[in-house]
Amino acid sequence: MDQKKVRLGDVVDDYCSRCRLLMNHGVMAIDGESVKKVRCNTCMNEHPYRGGKLPKRRKDPLADAYAAILGKLPKAGGTGPGHHGGGGSGGGPHVPLAPEDSADEPEDE
Ligand SMILES: [Zn+2]
Repeated sequence: MDQKKVRLGDVVDDYCSRCRLLMNHGVMAIDGESVKKVRCNTCMNEHPYRGGKLPKRRKDPLADAYAAILGKLPKAGGTGPGHHGGGGSGGGPHVPLAPEDSADEPEDE
């Protein structure tokens, strides 16, 4: 059992919760031969060493977000209660008119 010893300042791979990626981390604290604390070299986020493994998760967070969004959307074809009608033009957010009305030819004498 000859494990490679890790020393302070060594760079190890670990999962950064802020970057949400497996990044290079500098070793900040060691207990015996095991890394206790690391700091992400990319975002400088300090966190306990996770053993260089990705956290377990049931499903893709992106898919989860999509499901949440799609679940809130009204079904297609129906008239949503929050529909903003009545303006007549467009349908987007109300944009105030710019004061520069006659600026089509700035080089006019
Ligand atoms: Zn990071």
